[in-house]
Amino acid sequence: MGPRKSDFTEQLKRARQMSKRPKCVHCGQSYGQRDVTTIRIEWPATQPMPPYKGNMVLSKSEAATNIPHSVTGNLFGWHHVWDGETFVKPYEPFCTLRCALDYARRAYARSRQPALRRA
Ligand SMILES: [Zn+2]
Repeated sequence: MGPRKSDFTEQLKRARQMSKRPKCVHCGQSYGQRDVTTIRIEWPATQPMPPYKGNMVLSKSEAATNIPHSVTGNLFGWHHVWDGETFVKPYEPFCTLRCALDYARRAYARSRQPALRRA
């Protein structure tokens, strides 16, 4: 129980240091997904899944199956880890493509207004 608890405390400490998700310049919503790296792990079927011990932020651990490999007798799975600051932002600085389009349409409409008034 001892080492588990300190691992958890370590994770909490990391969580507080993590970068905040970026905010969309148009609607103000937070966006971006954690840019996670996947580490494949393998362990003897007689033992529990080994905990992640690196210095990245653990997002998720998962076992592929409960059935041991017929040759090695091992189980395998993955730790998904995050560096605590990198996000996937395909439409930066907007949250979504839809939001970027909405911004573009409004900007276009605004740009047309002076011309209309002059006419
Ligand atoms: Zn947005």
